[in-house]
Amino acid sequence: MAELIDGKKISTDIKDELKEEVSKLKAEGREVTLAVILVGDDPASAVYVKNKKKACEYIGIKSLSYELPAETTEDELLELIEKLNGDDTVNGILVQLPLPRHIDEKKVIRTISPKKDVDGFHPENVGALLIGEPGFVSCTPAGIIELLKRSNVEIEGKECVVIGRSNIVGKPMGVLLLRENGTVTIAHSRTKNLKEICKRADILVAAVGKPKMITAEYIKEGAVVIDVGIHRMDNGKLCGDVDLDDVESHVSKITPVPGGVGPMTIAMLMYNCIASVRG
Ligand code: NAD
Repeated sequence: MAELIDGKKISTDIKDELKEEVSKLKAEGREVTLAVILVGDDPASAVYVKNKKKACEYIGIKSLSYELPAETTEDELLELIEKLNGDDTVNGILVQLPLPRHIDEKKVIRTISPKKDVDGFHPENVGALLIGEPGFVSCTPAGIIELLKRSNVEIEGKECVVIGRSNIVGKPMGVLLLRENGTVTIAHSRTKNLKEICKRADILVAAVGKPKMITAEYIKEGAVVIDVGIHRMDNGKLCGDVDLDDVESHVSKITPVPGGVGPMTIAMLMYNCIASVRG
């Protein structure tokens, strides 16, 4: 039977460690402050923002909330970001994506100071990751590395296959696994023989965005599987990109959905906020 990797427990451990770190910073007279900007009224984004603010509260990070109407212009948003960039009391700036269509996301990401870019989306941070220099790392893939390490999964020398090449999950995931000395393949929508490639994986990361697409046919016996996908099914329950029931008897360890990768993303955001103060 597969071992379920408990992302909820591991993320709580991390948040408790960070809580201590924040207390130490406070004792040195340093406060950690995250500015969270939400534009519009997308219900899923509102939930994500609420959870991020709740995590800040738990850890002792001060969160400044900017909830702007959907009609906010690009210039107004950029002006707010510039103001926060120049505010020495603000350590991290997070703009919840997606943004309304009339706002250029790339421009917004580039406007956030790389030193306050706790999401790790700014090209300067992405470039730093690629060449192995310090910088903020995208939270979901960073959280997956923590999940693997804290579950005693060795990455060095292992065949790692990532399905998905998005800028926020697939690509940084591939680079991070490479940094841990994995042998990495990034598969995507144009990949041929996807099943054969996935079957090589000792560690398979599914970030494909297709509910339950990954079945036992894609999995090598004993592989470790990380399921990044989150989908709401017709019955209201959540599922991932992996068909857990089908693969469970084939894998050695797997992350469930919910309670796997999801909670780690927020824990790593909190980690980045604190790193932004430590410098
Ligand atoms: P995306 O849509 O930007 O990227 C999906 C990737 O999958 C693309 O690179 C595409 O090439 C690849 N792909 C699509 N169909 C494919 C196919 N049939 N075969 C092989 N590759 C295929 O998505 P994303 O932002 O990277 O997110 C992926 C999933 O992870 C989504 O379900 C998303 O909701 C979820 N997600 C979860 C978290 C979390 O915190 N748990 C964070 C981010 C994303």
